[in-house]
Amino acid sequence: MNAIEWQITAREGEARTGILRTRRSEIETPVFMPVGTQGTIKGVRFEWLETELDARIILGNTYHLWLRPGVEVIRALGGLHKFSTWDRSLLTDSGGFQVFSLTDLRKLNEDGVEFRSHINGDKMFLSPEISMDIQAALGSEIVMVFDECPPGDAGIDVTRKSLELTARWAKRSKNRFVELQDEGADTGFIPSAAEINNLSGQQALFGIVQGAGHLDLRGESLEKTVDIGFDGYAIGGLSVGEEKPVMYEVLEFLAPQMPENAPRYLMGVGTPEDLVEAVFHGVDMFDCVMPTRNGRTGSAFVSSGKLNIRNAKFAKDSEPLDSECPCSVCRRYSKAYIRHLYQSNEMLAAILISHHNLAFFLDTMRQVRQSIRLGMFGQFRHDFIAKIREGEKEFKASGV
Ligand SMILES: [Zn+2]
Repeated sequence: MNAIEWQITAREGEARTGILRTRRSEIETPVFMPVGTQGTIKGVRFEWLETELDARIILGNTYHLWLRPGVEVIRALGGLHKFSTWDRSLLTDSGGFQVFSLTDLRKLNEDGVEFRSHINGDKMFLSPEISMDIQAALGSEIVMVFDECPPGDAGIDVTRKSLELTARWAKRSKNRFVELQDEGADTGFIPSAAEINNLSGQQALFGIVQGAGHLDLRGESLEKTVDIGFDGYAIGGLSVGEEKPVMYEVLEFLAPQMPENAPRYLMGVGTPEDLVEAVFHGVDMFDCVMPTRNGRTGSAFVSSGKLNIRNAKFAKDSEPLDSECPCSVCRRYSKAYIRHLYQSNEMLAAILISHHNLAFFLDTMRQVRQSIRLGMFGQFRHDFIAKIREGEKEFKASGV
C-alpha cells in the first residue's frame, strides 16, 4: 500500500492537473504550499488557511523546529500536527538547505555536516539519518531526503561531487526512513487510513534532483534519484542565486523527463510568474516564503506585478491592493489604510498584506488548474505574463 496517491486529471502540453491524496488531505495540483517555518505561517492564523485561503498542505522547516522547541518537546506533545493543531497535510524539508545557507563554520564530510546553531552557537550535527529521525518525530505527510545544496553558480567539478554525495545521502535517507516507518516512530501515523482511503497511513518520501545549472549533471542526478525510487521527485538548487534564464532552462530540460506518474516539486520557487512558467514545463508543487516575507516589508503581489505600500502615491488611494482579487483583505481595506498601518508600525499591516499575498498565490494556482482543465492554459499564461510586463513598464515610467 502507498503512503500517497497521485492521479493526473487533465493535461495541456507538459502542464498537468492532478489530485494528490495523502493520509490527511486531498490536494489539487498544481499547488502552492505556504511555508510555516516555525510551525506557523507568519502572521496568518490556521483558521484563515483552513477557510478562506483553503490551503490543503503547508511546509514545516526541520532545521528551525529541531533547534527550537526541539524534537523532544514536539514528540512529547504528539508531533507537529497535534502540537500546532494543523490537521491537514504537512511537508517537511530535510534541514539541509538551512544548514548550508544560514550557519557558519560548517564542516562537511561523508557522514553529514557539523555546524553551529544560529540561535546559541551550540555545535550540532545533521546527517541523512538524523534528518529522517526528526521528520518522523514531526510526523509530516511528506518527508524530504537530506541533500547537499551547492551554490547556484558552482562549477562543474564541485557540482558533480555534490550530486554524487547527494545520491549516497538519498540512499541512506531512504534506508533510515524505512526503518523508522517499521519502528512506528512517525507521530503522524494514521492506523485507519487503510480502511478509509486505501493508503498505508505512513509518511511518503520524496527524492531531490540537484546539478545546479549543468543540464547533463541534472540528467545524471535524475537518473540516480529515480534508481533509488521515491514517492515523488523534487527539483532542488534553483532560485539560489543563479540567473533566471538558467532556472527556466533547467526546468524546460528536466521537468518533462521526471517520472510521469509521480508529483514533481520545485523547491523554494518563486514569484507568481515563475510558478506559471514552471507549470508550463510540467511542475506540480511549489513552496516559497515570498508571500509572507514580502508581506512583512510592505510588498504586495498583484495582477500587475508587485507594489510597495510605503510608496507615497498610495497615501490617498481608496482602492484595494488588487481590485481583481477576491480575498477578504481586498474586499474591505484600501491601500491608503494599509499604508497608514504600515507607516505607523502597526502589526496589522504585515498581517493584511501577508494574507492577501497568500490569497493571490493560491488563487493564481486555482486559475492555473482551471485553465488547464479547460485547455486554455496557453492563453492564461500569455495574458498573465503580459499583465505583469505592462505593470513593470508603468512602474518604471512613474519613476518610483
Ligand atoms: Zn487580496
